[in-house]
Amino acid sequence: MKDQAGRTIDYMRISLTDRCNLRCRYCMPHDIKKIEMSQLLNYEEIVVIAKCAVELGIVNFKLTGGEPLVRKNVPVLVEMLKAIPGVKTVTITTNGTLLSSYAQELKKAGLDGINVSLDTLDADAFAKLTGHTFPLSSVLEGIKAVQQAEIPVKLNTVNRRDLDWKTILSYAKDQHLVVRFIEMMPIGYGKDYMGTSNEILFSQMQELYGTGIPVTERKGNGPAKYYRFENYPDEIGFISAIHHKFCDTCNRIRLSSEGYLKLCLCYEQGMDLRKLLRDGSSMKEIKAQMQQAIARKPLEHCFSEKEKMTETQVMAQIGG
Ligand code: SAM
Ligand code: SF4
Repeated sequence: MKDQAGRTIDYMRISLTDRCNLRCRYCMPHDIKKIEMSQLLNYEEIVVIAKCAVELGIVNFKLTGGEPLVRKNVPVLVEMLKAIPGVKTVTITTNGTLLSSYAQELKKAGLDGINVSLDTLDADAFAKLTGHTFPLSSVLEGIKAVQQAEIPVKLNTVNRRDLDWKTILSYAKDQHLVVRFIEMMPIGYGKDYMGTSNEILFSQMQELYGTGIPVTERKGNGPAKYYRFENYPDEIGFISAIHHKFCDTCNRIRLSSEGYLKLCLCYEQGMDLRKLLRDGSSMKEIKAQMQQAIARKPLEHCFSEKEKMTETQVMAQIGG
């Protein structure tokens, strides 16, 4: 469907939980208030919302969190979503720590792709950055397991001041993985980690790998811009929400684990779909309400005028 700005909305991020088994400093360094399980949408409820979304033309779904794989039976949900007629892709974004035990089941369920968030390859730095809960090796084993299961996998790396991008790219080259570098956004604790732009990163990469040429064909469902460098074998993606605002082509909406439809990262504005579901509204009514809400999706984010931001949750609650 199209929103008020004529943008085609075809992608929904579904958060399965606020909980996480890591404590990334820029995302959720401390415990947050736990949500009761009864307040979370159950899988049947998520499927009802997804069916309404598909009827509106939203056909690509990304499972997120918190850490989505801390929720039980995620492969079952993947299978349920994949069985909805019209669904094109179901993918997951994960910190990778639990992937080695789920890779085969996720493959069987029909998962179309996995993004693994990985910010460093130094085991001590990883422990410091993610709160000393799971070791770096669990993520690396997880990546191996999904490669063995032949699920397409990409790496997501947040651009921080102390980022060692050379080591990330050298690992990615050895493992034949595509990496996307994401600019830190001023959401929650991310506000304290802002500063480095993807433009600076890009010019540093040009010094090492030669000229970066933009890849013109569209890849994936997201805002990443891909470049091919003379002396690096794979494409490298850049998601630059701050320095290259891409709001005019934004195609996404978000569903929180409590069933709140969120329209833009910056604003709290949205709609309580759980209430509609649990009050017994029909799918037709829910779909109509979703359509009205999505049509009013804000035109652009306001990260450069933070006083206008109405979103107060941390990124783990929003789902990235
Ligand atoms: N736990 C999963 C993971 O880490 O991939 C899914 C949820 S996490 C919130 C989704 C993505 O958001 C991760 O790649 C994470 O690095 C990124 N993220 C968290 N806080 C951010 C911020 N302030 N700015 C940009 N990206 C952020
Ligand atoms: Fe957890 Fe992902 Fe946030 Fe790290 S980035 S704390 S893994 S939700």
